[in-house]
Amino acid sequence: MRNLIVIFGAACLVLTACSKKESLHETFARVNQEVLQNAQGYATLKEATSTIGHRLTGSENGHKAEEYTYSKFKEYGFEDVKFQEFEVEAWSRGDIAVTIDGATVPAVTLGHSPIHSDVEGEMVDMGNGLEADYEDNPNAVKDKIAFMYIGLLEGTPKGTHNLHRSEKTAIALSHGAKGVIIFNQVDKGVLLTGTASVTGELIPIPAVCIGKENGKALKETLKNKKNVKAHIVMTNHSDMIKARNVIATLPGSELPQERIIIGGHLDSWDLATGAIDNGIGSFSILDMARAFKANKLAPKRTIQFVMFMGEEQGLLGSRYMVDQAVKDGSIESVKYMMNCDMSGNPVGINAGGKISDTTFYKTLGAEIQKIDTLYKNKVSNGSGLHSDHQPFMLEGVPILSMQSNLDRSIYGCYHSDCDDFNLVNENHLKNTARFGTMILYGLANADKLPAQKMDSETTKQFMIDNNLKEPLIIAGDWKWEK
Ligand SMILES: [Zn+2]
Repeated sequence: MRNLIVIFGAACLVLTACSKKESLHETFARVNQEVLQNAQGYATLKEATSTIGHRLTGSENGHKAEEYTYSKFKEYGFEDVKFQEFEVEAWSRGDIAVTIDGATVPAVTLGHSPIHSDVEGEMVDMGNGLEADYEDNPNAVKDKIAFMYIGLLEGTPKGTHNLHRSEKTAIALSHGAKGVIIFNQVDKGVLLTGTASVTGELIPIPAVCIGKENGKALKETLKNKKNVKAHIVMTNHSDMIKARNVIATLPGSELPQERIIIGGHLDSWDLATGAIDNGIGSFSILDMARAFKANKLAPKRTIQFVMFMGEEQGLLGSRYMVDQAVKDGSIESVKYMMNCDMSGNPVGINAGGKISDTTFYKTLGAEIQKIDTLYKNKVSNGSGLHSDHQPFMLEGVPILSMQSNLDRSIYGCYHSDCDDFNLVNENHLKNTARFGTMILYGLANADKLPAQKMDSETTKQFMIDNNLKEPLIIAGDWKWEK
């Protein structure tokens, strides 16, 4: 009898038309086995980081990365793989030289700094660089160079909410600063990049990051010495560039007109190889795509696996994809968007915001837990901005992401010159691929989706309920009346 069942089960895998329907548990069990045996995420990310290097949007490397993932989708058996090319103005760094008190200090330019800058000025220690730091003397940095910590200094009142580097830069600018020097919070001189612009437009003053140790020493100098000068010289580029999202489509078996998008940004900053941001996310998606093909998964709804470019310069690729879909009306067919940005080793799901029902995820997660208790079936329901789900969310598409359980140590290299492959954990990548495949399959094959696409008014209210109105206004992305 047992033999018969085994034979019958094996036949089910081989034949596409099989009379006995496989249970979700059986599907997950074989996906689990297959991914544990054949996962490719680690190997492909290793290959890409070592043969291509960084994946900066619009650069030759970026183009190579687009082609690399395109050919992997093909290799995995996808027939429908497309480049979605877009042309946008994008910022990239040129040269930089920073001299403080007569000595050269290692520094990197923050994104959207001017094309050319040569400023010299007195440095003023603005503490954390928050609005409160300017209260006593609003003109403290007028025509001077504002110096601040990227984090919150020891002794900062409890409950103080830190701001993003771009917001700290905007505050300094509003108080008349002619330059901004931010010091990092990561030990051993790690240098961080990322945008210093709240809108994605060029900023009129140069903004740079220096290392933690140099920053701390400088704080001491500024306590004891008057008129310490900094000299910042930089060139950058803001050129029209071409980049391509890479989209692989798996047609749905019952509801092909309904699309579930899983996406993550393939592009990275240029200081390192972006192995964590967002190698682990995008190459896990690539491996999930492989797993769908290798396991002959045929969910009801169409799945599109998307490698976005341009995320780091302001969600350029995902904005383009959504704009196009709004123009041709196909946005209506996008029923869900699952974003993977620095996600890994998932232990649960983030259901993306206040109105979606989490029962569905609890039930789905319980099935995954039956496969492996490493998955903790945590369900949260928050929403944030600043990654590729944002343009979809603004169109009312329900959002989903995974709750990560990665080593704290990797976050220190976020946007930094140490974000390299040695930080990547092979087992974590495998877990992302197997649990991610299960979550995605569960969603795409659901009888009823846990949330529905919202109309414009409901979306507006959703943003307000999730405290996203203010940050969207600051970013220039609030599309409703204020
Ligand atoms: Zn990222």
